[in-house]
Amino acid sequence: MKIHNFSAGPSILPESTIKNSAEAVLNFAGTGLSLLEVSHRSKEFVAVMDEATALFKELLDIPAGYEVVFVGGGASTQFCMVPYNLMKSKAAYLNTGTWANKALKEAKGFGEVVEVASSKDSIYNHIPKGYDIPADADYFHITTNNTIYGTEIKKDLDVNVPLVADMSSDIFSRPVDISKYTLIYGGAQKNLAPAGVTFAIVKEDALGKVDRHIPTMLNYKTHIDGGSMFNTPPVFPVYSALQTLKWLKEMGGVAAMEKINIEKAAVLYDEIDRNRLFKAPVADLEDRSLMNICFIMNDEYKELEKEFFDFATARGMSGIKGHRSVGGFRASTYNAMPKSSIQALADAMKEFEAKH
Ligand SMILES: *Cc1c(COP(=O)(O)O)cnc(C)c1O
Repeated sequence: MKIHNFSAGPSILPESTIKNSAEAVLNFAGTGLSLLEVSHRSKEFVAVMDEATALFKELLDIPAGYEVVFVGGGASTQFCMVPYNLMKSKAAYLNTGTWANKALKEAKGFGEVVEVASSKDSIYNHIPKGYDIPADADYFHITTNNTIYGTEIKKDLDVNVPLVADMSSDIFSRPVDISKYTLIYGGAQKNLAPAGVTFAIVKEDALGKVDRHIPTMLNYKTHIDGGSMFNTPPVFPVYSALQTLKWLKEMGGVAAMEKINIEKAAVLYDEIDRNRLFKAPVADLEDRSLMNICFIMNDEYKELEKEFFDFATARGMSGIKGHRSVGGFRASTYNAMPKSSIQALADAMKEFEAKH
């Protein structure tokens, strides 16, 4: 039976990423050695890092004045790295979910944090709009895709202060106008690579403006100057990230990917909206994530939740349980997820409806 991998993260990767990574573990770049046992300063690995950085920039059309770095620590370490490097005295945050809230809390250790708006009271079922950002904020932090609640800011915002975004779960899912951001970061394990590497796209002239001492490893400048090689980088996930970036390019890049993602998500949202047993907690079409599609049982069918889970599991659906904080179901439909898998889930929902 084919297993359809809807896991939220770590999550589905292109077949070529997995295959090429496995091959490199056995014999890396014809060296006769495993990728796991060669120096990160070997010419073969330096070439991997250089190509990954260059392709990352190419695919997102990153303008001059920005650098891309690969570091460890996950997106969660970025929650402190961002204020460490950018907050002089005040920062503004949009509270759109668990991760956004964690980022906001972490920043409080560095100065005044203004929560400009929050959708917490409605269990994060929409993206707040119409808020004011204090003009004296050093930056405004957003989480473009709320992995747990299935909401997404799909357009680049125009704001009056430097914009910082956690794009852990929607990077490379659409074209991004990088020039509108000062910093973008994310853990790679949702849409790019296995766990272990974190990316940051940094506008260089935004650095060096705070007075505090920044620990070496938490200073973006360290990793920019060191070409992501200041210390031993996470070689295996960087290698895998390069394979995904090559696949993305072959697929036609982020613009082509966005088209496919819109089509893919429509298959499932249409079924959720049509099916009498299910509903989407995120009502506003504009806010619905193309990467994490949440759905719950309609009120009168609540008791069927476990039965549907077993029904779908028996048809090969894996990883569809909603996050433990919200329950229900969540189908993560990252770039590498084929439309046929989403169709299989929609078909299972249809079949289940007919049964009841
Ligand atoms: C998964 C996730 C994180 C946490 O990433 P780690 O790499 O595990 O620290 C942060 N933000 C968002 C939006 C996520 O989806």
